[in-house]
Amino acid sequence: MAGEAQPDCLFCKIAAGEIPAQVVRETDTTVAFRDIAPKAPTHVLVIPRAHYPDAGELAAGDPRAAAAVLHEAALVAEQEGVAGTGYRIIFNTGEGAGQTVFHAHAHVLGGRDLHQLV
Ligand code: 5GP
Ligand code: ZN
Repeated sequence: MAGEAQPDCLFCKIAAGEIPAQVVRETDTTVAFRDIAPKAPTHVLVIPRAHYPDAGELAAGDPRAAAAVLHEAALVAEQEGVAGTGYRIIFNTGEGAGQTVFHAHAHVLGGRDLHQLV
């Protein structure tokens, strides 16, 4: 069924607490934790607890969870103190865009100059 935990999915395991992570926020539908290889002083991943392979499939399959991920991303930025200076929310989608974990996730990046790319 859409959204069901996948046995070999790293982020399903983090959501279930089976693999440890530095969790910074949690709700009934989302978990936010620090990226293991941070690309900026603040680099937090926000995931839905439900398994969808990417952001587009999440939005189509569970729009409320997709909205919750976005809301939590903004709350992470506030909590981390980067909301005032600016931050990025990135959803890599597909291997060609650099997606390596196929459980939808938002990268929240801040705390350094982020003017590169778009
Ligand atoms: P993607 O490349 O799919 O957009 O992002 C996956 C992110 O997950 C990468 O930035 C990577 O550093 C992070 N990551 C991979 N494995 C782990 C892990 O076991 N724990 C945490 N906290 N982050 C991870
Ligand atoms: Zn998953």
